[in-house]
Amino acid sequence: MSPELRFQPSANIAQLKESATIAVSTKAKALRAEGRQIIDLGAGEPDFDTPEFIRRAAQRAIDAGATRYTLTEGILPLREAIAAEANRHWTGADPVKAAEVVVSTGSKQSLFNACFSLFGPGDEVLVPVPSWTSYFEMVELARATVVPVLGDPARGFKVTAASLAQVATPRTRGLMLNSPVNPTGSVYDAAELRAILDLASQRGWWVLSDEIYQRIAYGGAPAPGALDVAASRHNLIVINGVAKAYAMTGWRIGWTISPAPVAKAMNALQSHTTSNAAAVSQHAALAALTQVAEADAAIAAMVAQFRARRDAALAILGEEPRLKVLAPDGAFYLYMRAPLGLAGGEAGTAFASYLLENHNVAAVPGSAFLTPDWIRTSYAAEQSQVEDAMRRIVAAFRELS
Ligand code: PLP
Repeated sequence: MSPELRFQPSANIAQLKESATIAVSTKAKALRAEGRQIIDLGAGEPDFDTPEFIRRAAQRAIDAGATRYTLTEGILPLREAIAAEANRHWTGADPVKAAEVVVSTGSKQSLFNACFSLFGPGDEVLVPVPSWTSYFEMVELARATVVPVLGDPARGFKVTAASLAQVATPRTRGLMLNSPVNPTGSVYDAAELRAILDLASQRGWWVLSDEIYQRIAYGGAPAPGALDVAASRHNLIVINGVAKAYAMTGWRIGWTISPAPVAKAMNALQSHTTSNAAAVSQHAALAALTQVAEADAAIAAMVAQFRARRDAALAILGEEPRLKVLAPDGAFYLYMRAPLGLAGGEAGTAFASYLLENHNVAAVPGSAFLTPDWIRTSYAAEQSQVEDAMRRIVAAFRELS
């Protein structure tokens, strides 16, 4: 008889926590199944369909035989399209080459590949907070140490080169940078970004620049990215993908642009985990990146809707002057402070629970982003739903204040 096998988490995953954002959506779905009319503003997913020209390109690709393994790093035309797009931003003497691009199963995998390839035990990685919940887990899965750097709430929680320099040590090995920021919607302007990248370059830190929301920005142009402002890209890993801007979350295509030796290491890692990203999805992403006029029109239409919802939401929240909310310049999230009357330290969790139980609105507690007195809602839902949810949030805030 075999000995009884009881599950003990391995040392690899002993610290791993479930994704809080996914947990909120799961709870909202369960309540819906019980018949409750929940407005789910927990998830970070555009509510639009993938544009038709992309869906058609995928259908054609399947019929043309895009059903087999591809190169681990992705099909050459897609990597060339990604490099060409990067070179519209990067004007240095060393143009981005297809060999520096690795296509993965969503930018989540790209980020994981980068963390796992660059960081290890003893390394410290600076993570501006609040920030997307998965950075903490990815850095820790690589057995490196997260060093949270709290941004200034008066500046939309953005960090500065000076605040990063203050917490850096000789063991600092990298920086997780994200703009537009999930969860705040803050956007780093070119000067802020350049100062941070200059510091990282001087100190020899790897910078993982997650630009997944770059095209969802309300300043009339895409948010500045690392390749727009960096003096050198020897320490830069730029992460992007099609999920958010092209409403393609389910297709799972992301990529990294990095120095060739880093790309080689990430490719080796990916060759033993998932191999190539789905072939048909790569062809869909190729259409998204190369049918530029259609893509620009589709993105402009979606961004216009996000903007209208953002403005409507801010107008409603503004009716309660005690409710502190950050006005976002990009992405599709609103970050707001829980009522002061709630116990500090975990006020966001208490507020999110109250909203769900009493007002049927699902939001993510700020503890997921290491700022536990705040909550995040998305506005990637129909405008009438967003407006309804904001009215309920104001009502709940007043009940608890
Ligand atoms: N980076 C940030 C900041 C995100 O918010 C998300 C998704 O929520 C991702 C990366 C992952 O995106 P993808 O669907 O490409 O894996």
